[in-house]
Amino acid sequence: MGDRKSGVAIVGGGISALACAVALKERRIPFTIFEKEKSGGGKLRTESVGDFLIETGPDSFLPEKPWTVQLTKKIGLENEMLCSNDEHKGTYIFSGGRLHRLPEGVMLMVPTMILPMLRSPLISWPGKVRMGMDFVIPARKTGGDESLESFVGRRLGRECLDKIAEPLVAGIHTSSPDNMSVLATFPRFVEMEKSHGSLIRAMTAAMKKAPPRKPDARPMTYFMSMKRGMQQLSDGCVRFIGKENILDGVEIARIERLPAGYRLHLASSSLPPAACRLPPAFDVVVLATPSFVTTELVRELDPGLAGKLSAIEWSSSGNVSLAFRRIDLKNDLPGFGFIVPKVENRRLNAATWSSIKWAGRAPDDHVLVRAFVGGGHHEEMVSLPDDDLAAAVRQELSAIAGIDAKPVLERLYRWHRSMPKYTVGHLDRMAAIEADTGRHPGLHLIGCSYKGIGIGDCVKSGFDAADAIAGDAG
Ligand SMILES: Cc1cc2nc3c(=O)[nH]c(=O)nc-3n(C[C@H](O)[C@H](O)[C@H](O)COP(=O)(O)OP(=O)(O)OC[C@H]3O[C@@H](n4cnc5c(N)ncnc54)[C@H](O)[C@@H]3O)c2cc1C
Repeated sequence: MGDRKSGVAIVGGGISALACAVALKERRIPFTIFEKEKSGGGKLRTESVGDFLIETGPDSFLPEKPWTVQLTKKIGLENEMLCSNDEHKGTYIFSGGRLHRLPEGVMLMVPTMILPMLRSPLISWPGKVRMGMDFVIPARKTGGDESLESFVGRRLGRECLDKIAEPLVAGIHTSSPDNMSVLATFPRFVEMEKSHGSLIRAMTAAMKKAPPRKPDARPMTYFMSMKRGMQQLSDGCVRFIGKENILDGVEIARIERLPAGYRLHLASSSLPPAACRLPPAFDVVVLATPSFVTTELVRELDPGLAGKLSAIEWSSSGNVSLAFRRIDLKNDLPGFGFIVPKVENRRLNAATWSSIKWAGRAPDDHVLVRAFVGGGHHEEMVSLPDDDLAAAVRQELSAIAGIDAKPVLERLYRWHRSMPKYTVGHLDRMAAIEADTGRHPGLHLIGCSYKGIGIGDCVKSGFDAADAIAGDAG
């Protein structure tokens, strides 16, 4: 084969890759996606089981990060976005043997309303006083990264860390607060400390400054989803991109740098017809694979870069969806669900009442519950045999939320090495990774491994790569 080049190769077909492809298609830049599974979408997977709609991966995105909303507009699915049922809104925290409502006004971990916090039995009086000391404790003088544990411990105290910040903030990242980088995950908190000398003051000011919603603006809730589940978003991208631009069932093993451009090498697992369809070379390669895969893809091309990528750690998680008949539940299920602080040492991290939070997830006479295990708390749970995992989840739901009914449906999903951990020093590692990548013209690394694990950040990484590719081409 000669060195005839063929546009942009995107390796991996998750939401980062799809967002990049959508933005390239808009600019009429030719591309091909190579996805090792039978279909694209990566972690966005929704399953229909009878009248139940079950999310196996993400169930929502944050519209505060505008890129996912922008993506829905680009692919014509803006009207398919779904608000959460906020009349039932509320997060509950399991502490000291019972569920406590997260006091009104707590934003992530920062209280912005005094009275609800004072009235809440979740935090002890000494703990509340300690949180209030955020107003007077001077801002840290030295710069540099620090762990969430150190940051929250300094500003709001240990009790707030254990009961609120760890389950709410580290939980989203399936990370442990003692090594989770606050700079890489919540730079906003660091800015707030710098600008206002107090998180409570800064968060309260930010809320007051938030612009009022325009009367004609589309209604949005803090979390948004898609009417037919999150996979509707990736399926919509695939439709927009065109199936003909996606090669499914094609696993790439490594990339080789040519005098001009790159060659992709297939893994032996890829089906033979794939080899026939693989162009000999590409001008641009976008690696939208998890960092531990990207490590292997670039190992021969740049061992130094591979070494840095391999330093990014990952955690595994699992979730179990259970459906119950409403009449079998003896209690009303409170809010949208609950979270469990690590200090409680339970086998469950959290549960969401999926069909209470979102419309269209279960028939009216049933409730769909989604329970989460692993990811920093008892990660060994993810590898339990099905029967043991299901039994453990049922026992925990009974002990924590009083759900003793027999489920009419049960589905288990395991996500091994699915969440990157942004440990202390992540931004320095990223700078070094970017410097190495910059030495390979036309090579781009995107996806959840680098600059944000949420769907919004992943979409942005895809858009940014498309901008850079268009800039180079222009
Ligand atoms: C259980 C769970 C719940 C989550 N909940 C939320 C949530 O509610 N909201 C939110 O914002 N985020 C959530 N996240 C995080 C978010 O879903 C992910 O960070 C995001 O979807 C990752 O997208 P990606 O494109 O970077 O990677 P992926 O979706 O992992 O896509 C990578 C793709 O690369 C393919 N691939 C791998 N190796 C190769 C190879 N050698 N050759 C070709 N293809 C390859 C894979 O098959 C995969 O399709 C959740 C994650 C999990 C696991």
